[in-house]
Amino acid sequence: MKIKSVEPFQILWGADGKSGAASAFLRITTDDGLFGIGEASPMQGGLASLGIIATDLAPALIGNYPLDHAVLLDTLFHKCIKLGPEGALTGALAALDIALWDLKGKLFKQPIYKLLGGAWRTRMPFYASIGNNAKRSVDEVVRVVEARLTRERPALVKIRWDGNRTELDKDIAGDIAKARAVRKLVGESFPLAFDANNGYSVGGAIRVGRVLEELGYVWFEEPVQHYNVQSMGEVAQRLDITVSAGEQTYTLQALADLISAGVRMLQPDIVKMGGITGLMQCIALAQAHGVELVPHQTQPSIGHMANLHVLAAQMHQTKPAELADNWERTQPGFANPPKPVDGHFELSAAPGLGLELNEAEIARRRRPIA
Ligand code: CA
Repeated sequence: MKIKSVEPFQILWGADGKSGAASAFLRITTDDGLFGIGEASPMQGGLASLGIIATDLAPALIGNYPLDHAVLLDTLFHKCIKLGPEGALTGALAALDIALWDLKGKLFKQPIYKLLGGAWRTRMPFYASIGNNAKRSVDEVVRVVEARLTRERPALVKIRWDGNRTELDKDIAGDIAKARAVRKLVGESFPLAFDANNGYSVGGAIRVGRVLEELGYVWFEEPVQHYNVQSMGEVAQRLDITVSAGEQTYTLQALADLISAGVRMLQPDIVKMGGITGLMQCIALAQAHGVELVPHQTQPSIGHMANLHVLAAQMHQTKPAELADNWERTQPGFANPPKPVDGHFELSAAPGLGLELNEAEIARRRRPIA
């Protein structure tokens, strides 16, 4: 059995199939007709990762044995490292890794979590990750949170800011007012998290973090710029609330730097770095250092399923899985799209990722990468 083709493609989720939010997908097919699907981070449409796959990675994979995937992908990572190891290259490799795990599951007729050593759980709660709150009024934030609570019954709500990254400490009083209003809406005991999306200085973060402690928020995500690793660690160490970071961290080594700086909850993302193989390594790193590993994951189909398989195999799971806004957009692309039921996602025993493409919809929405 050899890898016969590696096809990266973009899918557009608008009703016309030619516009709207993009996903960066990939299909790897073997010479005996098996195939696996993968996904890269869709930042800027995912075209950078898809282009690296088409130009630099696919030609090196064709003709190889798919179960050599870790050796093949680590070889390509080091071969292409001068493209910059952070972001587009690691997203491309993540997509390939996920597709090769999907293929491996289909080959052995086992769900990926079984190949990872078995599931501690196959039914998992999720949290509603609610973005774009920087530009909303206090009342609008409350309305949006209320709508998702009612519709989805999440185990926790995270409010994200998604502000302008070129400005820091823009509206601390307003941010605090929104955090207070959401606490008032959900009551004293419902778990909440606050994602600053890198919006504060160290001083600003300490000020907001103290209020979040008083309001009983569970975690405070990316309070300062992700590239200021020492500052992230300083905020984490000065506050009592758990400070998290890592969604913009693309290597195992850089995650180790976050731990050294003082961060105690890591959030690597399976479609941005490492894929399934890499996320399992991140879990081992976190376990060795006694820090929490709670993956970031905002892509609601392939990325989401890959993430759930790893979460099923993770022993110390301390927080629910992420489910971001507009997760319904990718549902038409699959015959059996993942959907929350009764506040949970449940993994089946279907082979690989357990996801079946709706081939007609994929064909209609597909933009090949030259
Ligand atoms: Ca975040």
